[in-house]
Amino acid sequence: MASQQQLKTYLAYWFQLGKKVFLSKDGKELLPQPVIRGDRYSQEFEDCWQKIIAHQGQDCYLEGTEQTIEELLSPTWTITSCARCNMPVPMIELGIQPVDCPCNDLDEWPNSEIPQPRSPINTVVHLSKIQSRLQRDRV
Ligand SMILES: [Zn+2]
Repeated sequence: MASQQQLKTYLAYWFQLGKKVFLSKDGKELLPQPVIRGDRYSQEFEDCWQKIIAHQGQDCYLEGTEQTIEELLSPTWTITSCARCNMPVPMIELGIQPVDCPCNDLDEWPNSEIPQPRSPINTVVHLSKIQSRLQRDRV
């Protein structure tokens, strides 16, 4: 089962490559830009995420995939990384994989010459790393 945090990262990564999210109920498409501002997610992205998760991702899916966010939150699915491009992709927990990576229809991808999608810098982890380095240096 994918956690909400994993799904948030999943969407953030694909938004950075220009994939949209469809809210099929009201026929809307969402593509917040920018996704990241400084060391955190942008307000645009957070608003979009709230919209999606307000209905547990019902009828809401990423362009190029068939699984709704609601399905991905069910125990059947998990998020793994694409064998070809390392992007987060939905994977069925047990059984045969029916899924192609949404990267299938991207031209010139994977592409190491453009900035790779990323998560905001996790300041807490970052700080604790600096802290432990400082402590080590002191010894
Ligand atoms: Zn891929």
